[in-house]
Amino acid sequence: LVASMEQVDQTYIMIKPDGVQRGLVGEIISRFEKKGFLLKGLKLFECTKELAEEHYKDLREKPFFPKLIDYITSGPVVCMAWEGVGVVASARKLIGATNPLQAEPGTIRGDLAIQTGSFSEVVFAFGLLKPCKESHSHGKLSCRNVVHGSDSPENGLREIELWFKEGELCQWTQVQAPWLKE
Ligand code: ADP
Ligand code: MG
Repeated sequence: LVASMEQVDQTYIMIKPDGVQRGLVGEIISRFEKKGFLLKGLKLFECTKELAEEHYKDLREKPFFPKLIDYITSGPVVCMAWEGVGVVASARKLIGATNPLQAEPGTIRGDLAIQTGSFSEVVFAFGLLKPCKESHSHGKLSCRNVVHGSDSPENGLREIELWFKEGELCQWTQVQAPWLKE
């Protein structure tokens, strides 16, 4: 158990097109840097429909899938590979809940993500209807939530392999002050 808690993982973090458009790239990268994770890969990138579909293949049956693919391919994204002990779970905590209306303050989505502004979103916010996960069953809206983070170490590796080519990742280590390891 202790060994698994200390396992060094990798996660794929992506600033989505709304994050890039809104000038949040520096702010978002900064949150992972400040947390102390190791940046192994970074690029600004315009992805194809095929790549977006492969990335989100587990969601292809969802009614919002076409909107999600339109959203992810609507402009450049920033692709990142981050490494660290427990980085997958920790990054998900830093990112916050999928629905920006439900993401806690202090998380990236809670602090920075906005809603697309329809009345129904406001209704969901007040708990009168079901939240994001089920709420868009008509498939009209996509959830613009500025950032993606892998949901498991396996998917972290899968997604990094999918979004980065050989030679785009850097093998390096941070020179750490001794007190960081104590
Ligand atoms: P997360 O990004 O938090 O891991 P999911 O993997 O469930 O969330 O969904 C992937 C992305 O699809 C979300 O980040 C969001 O952009 C979009 N999405 C998820 N659920 C919905 C929904 N009900 N309606 C519209 N878009 C959604
Ligand atoms: Mg997910």
